[in-house]
Amino acid sequence: MPKVRRTTRQIRLGKVLVGGDAPVSIQTMAKAAPHDIDTIVGQFLRAKRAGCDIGRIAVPDMDAVKSLPLIRERCGLPVVADVHFDYRLAVAAAEAGADGLRVNPGNLGGRAALLAVVEAAGQAQIPIRVGVNAGSLPKVRGMPAEPTADAMVDAALAMVAEVRETGFQDLKVSLKAFDVRTTVAANRRFSAQCDLPLHLGVTEAGPPLPGAVRSAVALGILLNEGIGDTVRISLSGEPVLEIRAARSLLRSLGLRPGGVVVSCPTCGRTNADVVSLAERMEEVLEELDLNLTVAVMGCEVNGPGEARQADMGVAFGPRGEGLLFAAGKVVAKHANAELEQALMARLQTVAKGVGT
Ligand code: SF4
Repeated sequence: MPKVRRTTRQIRLGKVLVGGDAPVSIQTMAKAAPHDIDTIVGQFLRAKRAGCDIGRIAVPDMDAVKSLPLIRERCGLPVVADVHFDYRLAVAAAEAGADGLRVNPGNLGGRAALLAVVEAAGQAQIPIRVGVNAGSLPKVRGMPAEPTADAMVDAALAMVAEVRETGFQDLKVSLKAFDVRTTVAANRRFSAQCDLPLHLGVTEAGPPLPGAVRSAVALGILLNEGIGDTVRISLSGEPVLEIRAARSLLRSLGLRPGGVVVSCPTCGRTNADVVSLAERMEEVLEELDLNLTVAVMGCEVNGPGEARQADMGVAFGPRGEGLLFAAGKVVAKHANAELEQALMARLQTVAKGVGT
C-alpha cells in the first residue's frame, strides 16, 4: 500500500466522497447515445456490480439533459454530466439533478458563461471537474500549445484560479495525456502546487489489453506515490471492462478490497479449461462480492502449492481427478469435470456467511 496519501480537499458526488480520507473511487463513462437510456442503464448496472462508484454521461444537447435524472434514478450511481462548448447545457444538467459537472472552463464561451455554470453548481451543491487534456490545451498567444506536462499544469492552474476567483471551491481536476510520462509528470507537478482532489486517467488509452496496461503504468506510478483520488481507465470497450481494470489496479496496490483470481498461464500439462474457469471465477467473485483469493490451477506441478496459499482453489490432476482446497488444506477430491461445481458450491456457502 502507498505509504503516504496526499492530503486533498474533499468533495462529494451524491453519496460518494472524493479526496481527503475517502478511498480511491472508480469511474466510467456511458458508451451509448444519451437518449438510449436502456443501454446506458444496462452498462452502468453491470459496471456498478463490478465496483463502479461514479458514472459519467456525455451531454451534447438538451435531450441528453432530460435523460440524466432517468438514468440516475434507474442505475443508482452518482451521475456526472460531461459538457463542452454550451454553458447552458451545464446549467440545465445541474438543475436536472446531475451529481457533478465535467467542463473545460476555456470552451464554455467566456467569463459570463463560466459564472453561470459555477452559480448553477453552487445552487445544486455539486462539484465541478476541471479537465485538461494534452490534445486540447488552450492556445498561447494565438498559437496551439505544445502538449507538455508544464503546459498542462499551467492550463489547469489558470482554469482553477478562474473558477476559484468566484468563491466556488468544490473542484476536482484532471490532467490527462496519451503519453504515460507526460501524464505522470503533469499530475505530480500539479499535486505539488494544489490541494484539489485529482481524477486520474490516460486519454484514448486504446483497446482493452494495451489500454489497461498503459493506464496501469501511469496510474500505478501516481497512486503508489499517494497521488490520485478517483480514477477512470478509458478503454475502447464496455464500461464494465474499465471497472475491472481499475479495480484490479487498485487491488494490486492494496487500495481496494475485492476478490482475486490466481490462475496458471496453462501449458502442455494442463488438465482442464483453466482460462474459461478463471474468467468465470472473476465474475462469480464480483457477483457474490467476495473478498477472497481463489486459485485455478491446471496440474499437479504448481497447482497444490498455489491453491494452498489461496483462500480457496482447485488443482486439476492427471488421470481425470483433481483436488479442492480451502484455507490451505485439501478438503475434497473430485473428478476434474466436477471440480468447478464443487468450488462454486463452497463459494456460495461462504457468500451466505457459513464456513470458509
Ligand atoms: S500449473 Fe501446471 S498446467 Fe498450469 S502452467 Fe503450471 S505446469 Fe502448466
